[in-house]
Amino acid sequence: MKTRRSEPHSTVGAASIVLMAILWLLVSASTGQAATWQECSGNKIRWNSGWTNMFISTTSFPAGSAWDTRLQNAMWHWNNVKGAGFNFYVGRDTDGTHSSSNGVNEVYWSSTEVGSALAVTFSRYHCYWLFGYNYGLDEADIAFNSNLSWSTGSVTYSNLGSPYNFELVALHELGHALGLKHEDQWMATMNSYYPNSGPFGYYKDADANADDRAGIRSLYPDGTTETDVAGSAFKRTGTGTSGLVSSPAWAYRGTNVTIEFSFANLSTATQTFDIGFYLSTNDFISTSDTLLATNYGAWGSAGFAGTFSRTLYIPSWITPGTYYLGFLIDPSNVKAESNESNNNQPMPRTITIY
Ligand SMILES: [Zn+2]
Repeated sequence: MKTRRSEPHSTVGAASIVLMAILWLLVSASTGQAATWQECSGNKIRWNSGWTNMFISTTSFPAGSAWDTRLQNAMWHWNNVKGAGFNFYVGRDTDGTHSSSNGVNEVYWSSTEVGSALAVTFSRYHCYWLFGYNYGLDEADIAFNSNLSWSTGSVTYSNLGSPYNFELVALHELGHALGLKHEDQWMATMNSYYPNSGPFGYYKDADANADDRAGIRSLYPDGTTETDVAGSAFKRTGTGTSGLVSSPAWAYRGTNVTIEFSFANLSTATQTFDIGFYLSTNDFISTSDTLLATNYGAWGSAGFAGTFSRTLYIPSWITPGTYYLGFLIDPSNVKAESNESNNNQPMPRTITIY
């Protein structure tokens, strides 16, 4: 995970340093999914058991602290991806030390190992031929940069820089720890740059994006299915970069406005759904707000996340004042989703109507 700032010296920092073991055979990853992983002669390098323990340093992140809670939330989100059988388990590392060669996955603060990166995952794996290919992940340590400022709260739309959102970064680094590499072609949790395409919905849920879910499903496939479409206030802004969708800060009633909106199909299959667009007196968008328009039959394949624009008419009967524009996925609630709380998404700023 890197961060971009205006200072020319501060954009460096290895995001995922892979320590080679025994023999490394380069095979270019080329599949239908954009998500990528290390390969060993065409075999995906992963935790072959389908699970691993992450030992949280209690001197860095005391048990029960907000840091600990956010780390475990991020692990849970990966564990909870249906169509993938992978699990992180929580351990405690109480000795205040760590090593990248002890076979124990340690999670800790470091002021020296991460350069100017927000955090670094140090992964170690093996790939060698001995009457057949032997491969697998052996260790993944996560170091967070203790020289930076961090927040254990929710993402703040008005400030996407420092303090950095700890859970978003933890989610990204854990993606490396389970075997995913950077993905900069689409919106993704595994984007190289913070805020990694951001969280979902009104509750700003830091959850693995559509492409990342396709990635973990490809590494650790199981037969379970998931139906979930999520709204987002973020869009792709460049190679591995993301920022907020646009929407007007003001408008006259009786005129048109244009907003951008993003959704991600987190499901294991293609989904078709309606999207309602609303004007609300608060940032919680619901069917009791003023319906401005509906997109019928919106569509996304599994793994899709993208941004669209929509022109909306502000009725002339609206009382002048400050409002939120926003949208609601599946407003009639005809789709049974594994997460129904990421469907309502306000624009990341108010609109003043004159
Ligand atoms: Zn990274």
